[in-house]
Amino acid sequence: MEKKSKRNTNEGMKWAVLATVLIFGLVAVIVVVMNQQETPVVETAQTDITGQPTLGESDAPVTVVEFGDFKCPSCKAWGEMIYPQLVEDFVNTGEVEFAYINVFFHGNESILGALAAESVLEHSPEAYWDFHKALFAAQPVVDHDAAWITPEKVLEVASALPAIDQSQLQGDIEQVAQQEALETDEALVEEAGVSQTPTIVINGKTLEDPFDYDAIKALIEQELAGEE
Ligand code: CA
Repeated sequence: MEKKSKRNTNEGMKWAVLATVLIFGLVAVIVVVMNQQETPVVETAQTDITGQPTLGESDAPVTVVEFGDFKCPSCKAWGEMIYPQLVEDFVNTGEVEFAYINVFFHGNESILGALAAESVLEHSPEAYWDFHKALFAAQPVVDHDAAWITPEKVLEVASALPAIDQSQLQGDIEQVAQQEALETDEALVEEAGVSQTPTIVINGKTLEDPFDYDAIKALIEQELAGEE
């Protein structure tokens, strides 16, 4: 009787240990899965940002690319809500180089806005980001679907920035002088599989939610840790 009882206790202990191991294993799996869910990303290729407008150190360990559209309300919102924090936390510290690539999902107005921006980038690169910001700021808050990116509007926005040569910009718009740059952007959009704007790609990893700053931060920190 005594022996039997002892064996039962041992059996019980074995089951208790096994159950504990299983529970810890399950918890570990859940933790890993939950951590993965914190930064949902889609792996793409590193985007070639040669010739694109950039902000920050060119040798920064992490590259953040925004695929954006001057006609897109979400891109304007991203520029106001997320971009300033990103610049403060990571671009100004030299950890991130930021680049912007044009998307033309809204047709002719997207193309005109991009063309004007590429002209400014080519002839007055020091004024590029001011023009970029000013053009987004000119986007109507209420009826953004109505046509607003016109040659007149673009020149009006540029007129507030003395570094921009107005007649150069006007001529470039009329002659579609930066067509090659637009074609480069279009090819990069296709290559990266961009289907919505803004799309944010961090070292070749596309974020599912561009407005989730915690996810952006976590992914950048993960990439920075990988560089060490
Ligand atoms: Ca471009």
